[in-house]
Order: sequence, then structure tokens, then C-alpha cells
Amino acid sequence: MRVFKFGGASVKDVTGLENVVSVLRHTGAKDLVIVVSAMGKTTNALEQVVDTYFENSNSTLLTTALEVVRNYHFQIIDQVSLDKKQALFGKIEAFFAEIEAFLTNNQSSDYDQVYDQLVPYGELLSSTILQAVLEQQDFAAQWLDIRTILKTDSNFREAKVNWKLTEKNFKEHINSGGLYLTQGFIGSYKPSLTTTLGREGSDYTAAIIGYCLSAESVTIWKDVPGVLNADPRYFENATLLSAISYNEAIELAFYGASVIHPKTLQPLQQKGIPLYVKPFLNPAAAGTCISERDTIEPYSPCFILKRNEVLIKLSSLDFSFMLEEHLGEVFSLMAEYRVKVDLIQHSAISFSLCVDDKFNTVTKMLCALQNRFKIQVIYGVNLYTIRHFTPEALVKIEVDKEVLVKQVAGNMAQLVVK
Ligand code: ADP
Ligand code: ASP
Ligand code: MG
Repeated sequence: MRVFKFGGASVKDVTGLENVVSVLRHTGAKDLVIVVSAMGKTTNALEQVVDTYFENSNSTLLTTALEVVRNYHFQIIDQVSLDKKQALFGKIEAFFAEIEAFLTNNQSSDYDQVYDQLVPYGELLSSTILQAVLEQQDFAAQWLDIRTILKTDSNFREAKVNWKLTEKNFKEHINSGGLYLTQGFIGSYKPSLTTTLGREGSDYTAAIIGYCLSAESVTIWKDVPGVLNADPRYFENATLLSAISYNEAIELAFYGASVIHPKTLQPLQQKGIPLYVKPFLNPAAAGTCISERDTIEPYSPCFILKRNEVLIKLSSLDFSFMLEEHLGEVFSLMAEYRVKVDLIQHSAISFSLCVDDKFNTVTKMLCALQNRFKIQVIYGVNLYTIRHFTPEALVKIEVDKEVLVKQVAGNMAQLVVK
């Protein structure tokens, strides 16, 4: 089997949906599982629905927030040419009816759990629409509700996979020779609670499926030529990396090269399954191949930017050294509040952390720390990571910026700048 993943950008409109058909014409559609994300920015729009629901559950604002999602999908269906359009409208209406029933009947006040019952509709909608488009073009894909297969724990919004059960389920549901279409990002806990794997988690879903089926390859189709040595949105002259080792790709993704979800690589590495990152507008292009090899080709500095991080500097209240017991306390609070650490700098009297406030919990965590430590905090900093840095590469980043923290270790340099 092969696994293909199409992200939000590749299915954001009718042209995108039709382009999936072009890709399949080029690659063939046998022995294939297609994973699809929510269309365009639907996940953000559904997050807005969840926030509005928690702020004011009966308001017209909630109806408006949901209308944004509904109108976007109905507009796309309106534009696409389909013989069985009414049947598709019916399926899509049924999903919106489920959302409305949930909003009316829900009793849970657990934000993360409610989030996971609503936001996954983005993927359920997109996969249903894509199936209809494929069917119209004679690609009869079997639609799978991945929630019946991909099983997780109940760590809502960042659920951990139950690998044994998931592998067994995939083997039962997928037969060689077939064409299947399913959702990225989502899974389920027990029979009835939907879970999500974390934002941008559809790449990871593709890898989970690849692993469970011992696939021949996994391909993620993107709006860029492949993995570049920098994010083209923020760096000029980014160049294509044609081949990368698993370990190098893990490091790039971990430090924030958002073209690949960081959890994607390890399951594939375990079974030696190559990951291709290819441009969805040019299926014939080679893109990037990630596999077991030495580092990267062509060898060059790689620049990664993580924006809007928080820099926290802690020192003890009584001018004592920052010792193990202090650090232990800080780390256990980080784990409790699910704060992600991207850089640590430790000296005798202070401890600096650059963190990603992924779950908007940093302020709460700082409240818990304030009686124990002297705290300085700077919001909205940028973290640059340069792998395989050269002096010239470092100068390129430092110029014109206020450098708050600089750390150089081995072949990697990190700068926190304002
Ligand atoms: P999708 O969700 O459609 O699968 P993403 O938007 O998550 O795709 O990933 C593609 C984007 O990743 C690109 O548009 C690019 O801006 C960004 N990106 C960040 N780092 C890199 C990199 N090193 N190489 C290529 N693209 C990168
Ligand atoms: N739709 C989800 C998100 O936007 C998952 C994904 O796109 O990978 O985070
Ligand atoms: Mg994405």
C-alpha cells in the first residue's frame, strides 16, 4: 500500500479538489489510502465555533460562527460539477445536524473534550466532499470513518495513539489493491468520543497508517516544491532539499519546520518507510525524499523560525542557586500545563526558557510559579534555529535584531530575538 496525504491548502477550493484527481491520474489509484485534512482554514473556523460556544452558548454569534463553516462548504459543493449532488448535500446536512444536536445537548464543561467533539467535523466534511468528487471522475474510493479504526487515549486535543489496537484495526479494514479515503487529525477514545492528535496532525495520521500497514511509502502533497532549507514565507532564496535523513528531518520538524508535523517521522523510521514531500501542483516533480541516509542533500544551513514565543527568566527569590529541586518543580508545572519548551538556558542563578504557548496556559503556569521564583517574562519573541550553521548564516539572522538569548551547540545555533 501507499499512503497519500492532502492538506488544507491542497483542497481549499474546487480547483484543489480537481487537482487531487489530476494527481491520482498521474500516480495511479490502486493500493492507496488517501488522508485528507479539513478544507482551507476550516479548523480555525471550527475553533471559533468552540470559543463562541464557551463564551456565550445561546447567542446569535454561535449561529454566525457555524454559518461561516456551513456557507464555505456549501459554496464549494455548489461550484463542483456532480451528478449526485443532492446525495452529497444530504450527507453534509446530516453532519451539520449532528453539530447542532451536540451544541444543544452537550453537558460537558471540559473545553478540550468539547473541542474534540466539534473541530473534527472539518475532516469529516472534506473527506465526504472529496469522495464525491473522486467518484464523479471514476475513482471509487471507499470512505472510512477513521474513528472506528484509529484508537487513542482520552488526552483530548493531543491524544496518544493506541498502537496495538490501531494496527490490528487497519489490517482488518484495508485490503491490498483497493483505494481508500479517510480523515487526518482525528481518532477516537472508546466507541463514542472523538479525539484529535494535535493541530496540523494529518501528516502524523498518514504516518500512523503507513506504519500500521507497513506501507511501501507515504507521500504528503504540499504547496511547496518539497522541504526547503527555510520557510519561503519568511526567508528569501529558500532552496529545495532533495534528500534528508530521518534524524535530520526529525530535528528540523521538532524545532519548527512546520512543513512536516514533528510526530510524523518516528513511526516511519521504525519500519524504514520513505516519506516523500511533493508539490501538489506538479506530481511529476521529485520533491524531497526522507529516508535512512546521511544528513541532507544538498548540504546547507537550514533556517527555522518559530514566531510568537514566550521568553521566561526565573531566578530564586532568596538569591540562592537554581538547583535540581527548583528545576524539578519548574518542569513538573510545564508538564501539568502542557507548555512546550523550545530552548533552555541555565546559569548558576537563573534559568531561561523559550516556550510555545500552544494551549494558552503560560499565564496560569506563571501564576503557579510566582510565589517561588522571581520571574521576568517577554511575550511575542521570535526563536530562530539554524541547523548546520555557518558564521555567515548566523550574521544573516542577527543583523538588525535585538538578540535576547543566543545558544550555540554542535552544528546548531538558536537565537531568541525581539
Ligand atoms: P498542509 O497543511 O497543506 O499539509 P502546511 O501549510 O502545514 O501544509 O505546510 C506547508 C507550508 O509549510 C508551506 O507553505 C511553508 O510555508 C511552510 N514551511 C515551513 N517550513 C518549511 C520548509 N522548511 N520547507 C518548505 N515549507 C516550509
Ligand atoms: N485540520 C487540522 C489542522 O488544521 C489538521 C491538519 O490540517 O493537519 O490543524
Ligand atoms: Mg497544515
